[in-house]
Amino acid sequence: MINYFYKIFLKYYIKTRYEDKNLNIISSKEMFLRMVSHQKKMPDFLGFGIKLVSSIFLILFCIKKFIKPKYSLINAINRTRASNILTLRNLIRFHDSLFEVAHIEEKKTQNKSKIKFTNQTDLFDFIIIGSGPGGAISAKIIQNSNLNSCIIEKGDNWKNKLPDFSYNQMLHQYNYGGITTTLGNANIAYTEGSTFGGGSEINSGLYHRTPENILKSWKKTFSLKSTLSDDLSPHFESIEKKLCVSYFPDGLLPKASLKLKEGSEDLNLEVREIPRWYKYDNDKSLNGMKMTMSRTYLKDYKNDGGIVFHNTKVKKIKKINSIWEIHLDNNKKNEILRSKNVILSAGAIGTPQILLKSNLSEKAGNRIQMHPTIKVVALFDEDINSKDMGVPVHQVKEFGSEYSFGCSISSKTYLKLAMLDHFNDREIVNDNWKKMAIYYAMIRPQGYGKIKNYPFFNDPIIKYHLTNLDKRNLTNGLKLLCKILMKAKAKIVFPCVYNSPIIKTMNDINKLPKVLSMQDSSLMSVHLFSSCPIGEDKKKCVANSYGKVFDHDGLYIADGSMLPTAPGVNPQGSIMALTHRNIQKIITPVS
Ligand SMILES: Cc1cc2nc3c(=O)[nH]c(=O)nc-3n(C[C@H](O)[C@H](O)[C@H](O)COP(=O)(O)OP(=O)(O)OC[C@H]3O[C@@H](n4cnc5c(N)ncnc54)[C@H](O)[C@@H]3O)c2cc1C
Repeated sequence: MINYFYKIFLKYYIKTRYEDKNLNIISSKEMFLRMVSHQKKMPDFLGFGIKLVSSIFLILFCIKKFIKPKYSLINAINRTRASNILTLRNLIRFHDSLFEVAHIEEKKTQNKSKIKFTNQTDLFDFIIIGSGPGGAISAKIIQNSNLNSCIIEKGDNWKNKLPDFSYNQMLHQYNYGGITTTLGNANIAYTEGSTFGGGSEINSGLYHRTPENILKSWKKTFSLKSTLSDDLSPHFESIEKKLCVSYFPDGLLPKASLKLKEGSEDLNLEVREIPRWYKYDNDKSLNGMKMTMSRTYLKDYKNDGGIVFHNTKVKKIKKINSIWEIHLDNNKKNEILRSKNVILSAGAIGTPQILLKSNLSEKAGNRIQMHPTIKVVALFDEDINSKDMGVPVHQVKEFGSEYSFGCSISSKTYLKLAMLDHFNDREIVNDNWKKMAIYYAMIRPQGYGKIKNYPFFNDPIIKYHLTNLDKRNLTNGLKLLCKILMKAKAKIVFPCVYNSPIIKTMNDINKLPKVLSMQDSSLMSVHLFSSCPIGEDKKKCVANSYGKVFDHDGLYIADGSMLPTAPGVNPQGSIMALTHRNIQKIITPVS
């Protein structure tokens, strides 16, 4: 019933959008199919909620139509976009996002060579769950020690066939198709990778070592052993060499990135180019090649005979007579793999989820953190964007790890998505996208979330709480970002905040609220961690300093979930260096 109502709603929603004659890229029928297939990927609790609210919307409409026969459904959808009722407004907003993502001249790709699990009777020395940066580096180090291992990855292996930041990449390589959000006092739209190579396949490649002040705070607050800069330095060096961490070729820096530099320098703020894991050809071409896990550690692992099961999800793990049983969620068949040791590298949500479902740790998932981020779209007088711009690389580092400012991927699709808070102005993108780019302010939060499982739903729900300080920091961050862009001679800045004033002069910045309403702000995050902190403090941590889960021999954590708190910088470097150090320690007694 609810599905039937939803399909009616969706058809009418698409009809309202297709009233606009400019929309001729794909047919409305194709759009319907795309939106349905994307909707199916999202977490079950959110999918159910959206179908339920759509049904309520239709019932309310029918009542109104009975009273006022001339009232049309198309009318109702358009009006709800500006409704004061947040849930209804969000319903339309959600579909507007899905629509912009799907409305693109790019054929939907299918992976024909799906490699699935085949029955195995071997007893492994190590099974690694998840093939993101933590899992990839763990697997290679374990293999180098002549230990018998395999990787289990719930995503598919796309063999670098999908273009970066494309519709197909979002649909196939992002967890939940890239569409999910936290609940709680802030709805933070978060994304993670779910594919062979995890987040490294879809991310921007911006590299940082963990700041010294953060390492000191981890030592002090979590009693984390031997992790100051000098201890970690050899591990960072090893990763940097393998991933070819380097700066952009001279003279080719993206113009949108240079705008951030210009505005920041005018305000005397420290701004830096951030190196990336990119390899450039000898001709120093602009694009370079992103050194993802599937092109580095995982490639070597497979070439050296490593076993990988793709499209295979771990449901839970169980210890029977000192051997770990890994229960797989594979086409509803109850398949099991066995291993002496298990490395959990399923990411900041996947790892605590496995621990919780297996009843192995009560503390898992209690303190997940993200870097809450707020964006703006800036329009300049000159061209600053191009089809091959790729990732802008400057970040403002004046405020250490507490605040960061940078520039994001700014393709036409991403610009249209970012303009949804200014729905009536979004068409500016069509003719002016070359003059536009997306910028962000990101904070290191005090607040945190809790991962919860509820009956009838398989997917976990994150309840996130931002503190008052976090809210003030986000507001101040947004204002300073607007100031930087005005100094860089932006013509208009559109904050990604529902109903917010647009900024055309420095004085307009004062029109922004003292503290942003979290319900009206389009917050997002691509950095998730700290759901299973490591350290010697048993009250706060899930595992010891080297990732061994307390009270469970042969069970280890090696991914973003182990970072004790938000690092305040892009996290992949920190995850990899800690894993590089920990796995060597873990395998010493085994090998
Ligand atoms: C769009 C985007 C841009 C980013 N940009 C940057 C950047 O520029 N610099 C930076 O440092 N970081 C960046 N990040 C963050 C970075 O990618 C992540 O911090 C990093 O990938 C986390 O690594 P991980 O080892 O924790 O696991 P993940 O990369 O999250 O991988 C976990 C893997 O485990 C698999 N898995 C989960 N559950 C199961 C299960 N039950 N069974 C089997 N497999 C499972 C998942 O499918 C996934 O492939 C970005 C992230 C995104 C999404």
